[in-house]
Amino acid sequence: MKKTFLNEQRANLIENLRERGITNESVLSAMASLPREKFVHPAFTQRAYEDSALPIAQQQTISQPYTVAYMTSLLQVKPNDKILEIGTGSGYQAAVLAKLGAKVYSIEREFELHRQATKTLQELGINVQTRYGDGTIGWREHAPYDGIIVTAGAPDIPKTLLMQLSIGGKIVIPSGNRNSQSLYLITRQNESDFDSVQLQEFKFVPLIGREGWQEAK
Ligand code: SAM
Repeated sequence: MKKTFLNEQRANLIENLRERGITNESVLSAMASLPREKFVHPAFTQRAYEDSALPIAQQQTISQPYTVAYMTSLLQVKPNDKILEIGTGSGYQAAVLAKLGAKVYSIEREFELHRQATKTLQELGINVQTRYGDGTIGWREHAPYDGIIVTAGAPDIPKTLLMQLSIGGKIVIPSGNRNSQSLYLITRQNESDFDSVQLQEFKFVPLIGREGWQEAK
């Protein structure tokens, strides 16, 4: 695959995201600087810059670029913010957060995805701390977080994750049934109060774990 072709495709994708209403230039620049083709299965290299989710191993997906741009914009990431991602998948979303200057922690429950994403991020020299395990209970050792992004659909908002937010911290999380979820942006106001806004509908793979769905279907 010619590099110039992929570079052109990547520039087109960024323009499409702009046309679809993504206005956060830092997020667009971060995505413009990342080779998405390195995060997809080699069989899908040619389709790496389509604005669509693509299959990765273990019946999971790398999220659609529009979804990544939209969710990342909601977090309003500032350099040095501490961000926790649940659902490392391919590592692409974590890489976008790292390019924004955040300190990124990312958890994945499928070992093979965790292993592969860790390798991809290392090969690209992108600094993300990855962990294999159940992300519904967060990563207590590094809490509190300025932002938490959950890239799988939850039946309810995991309480443990809410409690790992700093005051003023935000969580972006899809929640609903297995077929469709609303995206929620929840901001921690103080020790016990949270402000919640319900946004667009999306369809994510299920969040499976102690504070998620019990089983994959
Ligand atoms: N953020 C990923 C990327 O950029 O490629 C896409 C993630 S994919 C849509 C959702 C991921 O969440 C899957 O890899 C799935 O295995 C993972 N997942 C589901 N439940 C989880 C849990 N409790 N903890 C950690 N990861 C989980």
